[in-house]
Amino acid sequence: MNAFKFIIDCNAGKLVKWLRMLGYDTVFFKGDDDAEMVSAALSENRIIVTRDTGIMKRRLITSGKVSAVLLTSEIAQVQVGQVLRIFHTGDCISPFTRCMECNGLLEERKKEEVKERIPPYVYKTQDKYMECPTCRRIYWKGTHWQAMMDKISSFKIE
Ligand SMILES: [Zn+2]
Repeated sequence: MNAFKFIIDCNAGKLVKWLRMLGYDTVFFKGDDDAEMVSAALSENRIIVTRDTGIMKRRLITSGKVSAVLLTSEIAQVQVGQVLRIFHTGDCISPFTRCMECNGLLEERKKEEVKERIPPYVYKTQDKYMECPTCRRIYWKGTHWQAMMDKISSFKIE
């Protein structure tokens, strides 16, 4: 499992699903009180990811007690690449382990167990399934998932 945990500021919301897809414990901060976000990061040992330069000037961050990444791009895919490069985390990602919707840890399921809950064409073509025990969403490595992974490979070599 990945050691890095993130808290994503509301101005960088697109990153939430990407980081979860890579296996990172990622929460989305939807509030507007920066101090609250910084103290959550401190108590849960999370790295802040933000586009707000004001947050970078806060004492807990300038003193190094809380780590933060200031994103330099508005494009989600470029943002993911920036985070992966800063923490050199590209080699220790754990894709397909965490729910993109709710951050729950996925559990493996047998094909027969999920048969009634997936489209027939998926059942025919996919053998490996994971389920989120929290929101019951089922995951498989379909074409959409593969396309996202291909994009991630391209960030790593940039
Ligand atoms: Zn879930």
